[in-house]
Amino acid sequence: MSGPEIKKRPAAPQKGGRGNGCPLYKKCGGCQLQNMTYDEQLSFKQAKCIRLLSSFGHVDEIIGMARPLHYRNKVQAAFGLTRGGKIISGVYQSASHRIVCVDDCLLEDETADAVIVTIRALLRQFRLSPYNEDTGKGLLRHVLVRRGFQSGEVMAVLVTPTAQFPKKHDFLKALLAKHPELTTVVQNVNGAKTSLVLGERSVVWYGKGWITDTLCGCTFRISPRSFYQINPVQTEVLYGKAMAFAGLTGQETVLDAYCGIGTIGLCAAKHAKQVVGVELNADAVRDAKTNAKLNRADNARFVCADAGRFMTEAAKAGERADVVFMDPPRAGSDLPFLKSVVALAPKRVVYISCNPETQARDLVFLCKHGYKVQKIQPVDMFPHTGHVECVCLLCKQ
Ligand code: SAH
Repeated sequence: MSGPEIKKRPAAPQKGGRGNGCPLYKKCGGCQLQNMTYDEQLSFKQAKCIRLLSSFGHVDEIIGMARPLHYRNKVQAAFGLTRGGKIISGVYQSASHRIVCVDDCLLEDETADAVIVTIRALLRQFRLSPYNEDTGKGLLRHVLVRRGFQSGEVMAVLVTPTAQFPKKHDFLKALLAKHPELTTVVQNVNGAKTSLVLGERSVVWYGKGWITDTLCGCTFRISPRSFYQINPVQTEVLYGKAMAFAGLTGQETVLDAYCGIGTIGLCAAKHAKQVVGVELNADAVRDAKTNAKLNRADNARFVCADAGRFMTEAAKAGERADVVFMDPPRAGSDLPFLKSVVALAPKRVVYISCNPETQARDLVFLCKHGYKVQKIQPVDMFPHTGHVECVCLLCKQ
């Protein structure tokens, strides 16, 4: 890693103003659309959705964010050294393993950024070194900070290659003295040669080892490794649309596929007869089960399994669902999953996607097998980046 740039606080962008003057715009590569005004970004994303999805039906106007700044409630920083031996932390330069040093970022939560800068200073103070991927020496690989938008709870996760952490107690004391807002601090052990940030094992140093947050009036427990939407303001908008599309009356059996920590399913549970959530990540399923209890949703249960496999079995056993919510990762759904949806024959499918390209591909299959797209609603969950989220309603013909 050589020649790092230190990111200075850029001038705040205006809604509708062009760019935000971030000095790391090109190097970091995180804000692909920063050269556009926010209104231009929305038009660009709308055009992308129209291009990919308008053959299925009318694409409603994208819902933008009123204040598209500091929305990222989860911040991850890689740690490293410059050639001169200075400790840096930040993001990997696009398509490389070179760290671009970030002090504060216009997309990221400001508290999270401040915690990361403090940890960088503490490393120096305690004479601890960042991990070096090439030599396998050194201590700190990454730091992940998550802040509950409504709850204000803050979690810091320090990722190290082994369970050792010299001067751990004093380090923690100094960190908490600087950031009394931290409600939990966790050490995560990741010794693998991998681009994944977190390893399997976590050791709680302080607090509960997770945070809670509130979305759409429900409370959620979020563990270090669980997926949780990164823009809570727009998530409420997105889920609001998804619930409206589902048209629940209290009588329905609902399937929440790719459910994460159960956010969509538990929002739906209030308006449905019963909810079954299915998710591959065991930590997320554990959180989902706890979240069902936290929200007194006796009518919701959660299963740890591959969504396609689970639903194929359910269809074979003759089970039915009235509504299926599906929210797959960027790669979209696989064929076994899509076939199982057709076999379960729900009246409505609410398909939430962070990648309209794979969504379009999956819609083709569902439309060939008896479904019709009734609603297409893009939502801007990731301002200044090229990503766009889209929720579609399909009804059985
Ligand atoms: N609906 C949730 C999570 C969506 S992210 C929310 O809105 O917060 C996609 C989720 O799909 C992740 O939690 C991931 O762990 C899960 N996942 C990925 N592949 C899966 C599969 N084959 N079967 C079930 N879940 C899967």
